Amino acid sequence: MTFKTRLSACGAHLFDRASGMNVLLDEVRVAAEQFSPAPRYLSVALTNACELHCAYCYASKHAAALNPENVLAWAVELDAAGCLGVGFGGGEPTAYRRFPQLCADISQSTSMAVTFTTHGHRLTPGFVESLRGAVHFVRLSVDGIGPTYERLRGKPFTSVVRAASLLASLVPFGINTVVNADTIGELDAVAKFAVDVGAAELLLLPEQPTAATPGIGEADAQRLVAWISAAKAGVRLAISRTGLEAALPVAEALPGEHPLDAHMHVDAEGILRPHAYASTGTPVGASIMDAIQALRGPR
Ligand code: SF4
Repeated sequence: MTFKTRLSACGAHLFDRASGMNVLLDEVRVAAEQFSPAPRYLSVALTNACELHCAYCYASKHAAALNPENVLAWAVELDAAGCLGVGFGGGEPTAYRRFPQLCADISQSTSMAVTFTTHGHRLTPGFVESLRGAVHFVRLSVDGIGPTYERLRGKPFTSVVRAASLLASLVPFGINTVVNADTIGELDAVAKFAVDVGAAELLLLPEQPTAATPGIGEADAQRLVAWISAAKAGVRLAISRTGLEAALPVAEALPGEHPLDAHMHVDAEGILRPHAYASTGTPVGASIMDAIQALRGPR
């Protein structure tokens, strides 16, 4: 294993991108001037383009895409500043021109984990092969099973089953599921699906409000909390707490970590935001670290 080290007020964080192993040495006291200045993780919307029309999609419908040379330069800068991973989304990242090449360039030029989230319908054996050695983890979006999935996503369920099979041959992968009134009753089936296709993780995402949807309702949020509490998934569970703040007591990934040290997001127009749902941000110019410092402000 080759561990990358990130220093913060939490201690010394060791990370191996090949295995995904994280080790926090929290007894190590780190002087403030030695803290790694980059956030631990950066999500990037490479493009707003996507051929699906999910009602609960929060991606901007304004056509925009990032320049791959800029993204590579930002990745190199982030890597040197202690960032551990970059995760591509969108829109649909596999619709982004030169996506496999960009992943390969970042993987070769940095020690960060390269990950992406996909609907899976563009994956072919050749495309997946072009990502070999260039990515470390993939998230496949599966909202409901069979007819529910097909109604929500407008694509054959067999197609996403085939995508899971292709990803299983590439790297460890997880299943992402938006939890709403349509999918709350299918969590057992989704968890079984995750187990059956060999997923390493099931990430549950309470639906967020958009212009078209109100977000997860209170009753369904309570059902989700009850389902999580029963903990019969059979696969490692990860839960997005956004939308469940009042109902779900969770441990922070790193105790005491400031949210802006944990994660930031760059949208497809090159605006750095605290997270993907944030309404304000700061444009990224030649240096992403300058934008990060500007967004954080004085501490
Ligand atoms: S697949 Fe993802 S990006 Fe595309 S419309 Fe659905 S939620 Fe939005």
